[in-house]
Amino acid sequence: MANHPYHASRYLLATLKETPADAEIASHRLMLRAGMIRRVAAGVYNWLPVGHRVLSKVQAIIREELNAAGAQEVLMPAVQPAELWQQSGRWKDYGPELLRMTDRHQREFCFGPTHEEVVTMIARNEIRSYRQLPMNLYQVQTKFRDEIRPRFGVMRAREFIMKDAYSFDLDREGMERAYEIMRRAYVRIFERLGLDARAVAADSGAIGGSVSHEFHVLADSGEDGIALCDAVDFAANVETIDLPAPAGSRPEARETMQVVDTPNVHTIDELCAFLDVPASRTLKTLVFEGEHEPVVVVLRGDHELNGVKAERIEGITTPLRMASATGIESLTGAEPGSIGPVGLKLRVIADQDAVLLADFICGANENDKHRTGVNWGRDLPEPEVMDLRKAVEGDPCPTAPDKPITIRRGIEVGHIFQLGTKYSESLDATCLDDAGRARPMFMGCYGIGVTRVVAAAIEQHNDENGIIWPESIAPFQVGVVPIGYHKSDEVRRVSDEIAASLCEAGYEVLLDERNERPGVMFAEMDLLGLPHRLVVGERGLKNGTVEYRKRRSGETIEVPLDDIITAIGDNAD
Ligand code: ATP
Ligand code: MG
Repeated sequence: MANHPYHASRYLLATLKETPADAEIASHRLMLRAGMIRRVAAGVYNWLPVGHRVLSKVQAIIREELNAAGAQEVLMPAVQPAELWQQSGRWKDYGPELLRMTDRHQREFCFGPTHEEVVTMIARNEIRSYRQLPMNLYQVQTKFRDEIRPRFGVMRAREFIMKDAYSFDLDREGMERAYEIMRRAYVRIFERLGLDARAVAADSGAIGGSVSHEFHVLADSGEDGIALCDAVDFAANVETIDLPAPAGSRPEARETMQVVDTPNVHTIDELCAFLDVPASRTLKTLVFEGEHEPVVVVLRGDHELNGVKAERIEGITTPLRMASATGIESLTGAEPGSIGPVGLKLRVIADQDAVLLADFICGANENDKHRTGVNWGRDLPEPEVMDLRKAVEGDPCPTAPDKPITIRRGIEVGHIFQLGTKYSESLDATCLDDAGRARPMFMGCYGIGVTRVVAAAIEQHNDENGIIWPESIAPFQVGVVPIGYHKSDEVRRVSDEIAASLCEAGYEVLLDERNERPGVMFAEMDLLGLPHRLVVGERGLKNGTVEYRKRRSGETIEVPLDDIITAIGDNAD
């Protein structure tokens, strides 16, 4: 069917004038205000027509590039049987993010948070010989992860759309080739989506495997810390950064240990404000569940725990599980805000910076009380010591230790892993090599958060008036705003003609023929973020012109009717 103009009066432009109160970041606010999405439940959204158009474009670009890279599209079920997950071991390991359910026959299922198990089953059943390899299968599909803190709209949702691809090869070299092909495809995809994305070294987390990269859109609202060192072109998720033992040694103890009253102090910030001390003199105490007994982890108050490192503690439960508040109270006698390592009959593991503290301050294991002047070896036993904290700005670059890292925030829009044979071994997906031997296939997996990409694009492209879509994913490329569509036959005729000829030239056009005040229509066009706007009015038409405005630059020019298509082409991204 030929492309036709969309009429604003008949289109579900569910725009909002008010800024939604509970939306914390620009993309969430703008997606609601531009009528792209609506919340159905925590982390679960409707995509309304404008939003769905953008989403479809993102999907189309991803499909084109994956097809061009030799991947083949499939569609796997959202609902997956527990047995597959039991075979891979993840039924037990995945934790509470996995939404589990039981059917009428009491059989267990989950709603897929990812599809390694199911795709490995396809490979097990359909791939027999190395001659069929390499193979790369992908899908665009709805996932569910019961995120502990869904937030920022579709950025961290519970139900979301992911593109997930899986490569199969006979050996490691093949897997590495497949990985490189996908890495390049990702670079092209994010370029075409108009995103400034960067590949960074990553930890492969619960999916397993070793080599992995995340693609991040750098934005202040990002949830991940990205460590950068421009001197050696180093980029990695801060989680991956191991720290060398700190220079220097522990100072002499000078103070005696005391218990002080700290009413209503529950956090490190409150403690520092109350006692007027820097956080670097305090100790933060965390209690995690362990295989046999709880494990106490302590860090300097100004440092944060790196969960990946904490999972290396022997005997700790993985994935990490904080002890409950009541559990903590029965172990220590105090609420979580007043606990400390002195006098605890539990294993204490200290970060290597925390163990260098002398005369430090920590919870007293009595509500509303803290201890000051505490010293390792004197007031409590020397702890086990490990590298446990997250890297911070100024820490040494892992590649060039004499250079400091800087830290930026990033939104993870894609993730690629070399899985090796983890799933092919546990799920028995072998294929025959040229000597007729059955070998477990080498796999890679490659995800893009399709719905998250839409939000990330808005984080990178917006101003105080609304969204500024990159041309490639704009819901419509051109907005036509007639002034007096219902009053002037001339305005009406020319506006309809312009819209039709733009459509013929391949543009998608939103024609705002509602009987609204011009100011209202202009504000909505800005909010919707269409790259090009044409205003058709009687005054211009007298001279045979319309007003053209480029959303990104805000520049306005008068364009003769015959030159409209050229003007738009000249102002493309
Ligand atoms: P995150 O660290 O953000 O939780 P992840 O490491 O769990 O991500 P993967 O399992 O690698 O994510 O999933 C592939 C992609 O799916 C991610 O790169 C991200 O873009 C997207 N994604 C993951 N979780 C969510 C979510 N809750 N909402 C929207 N998109 C998500
Ligand atoms: Mg996650």
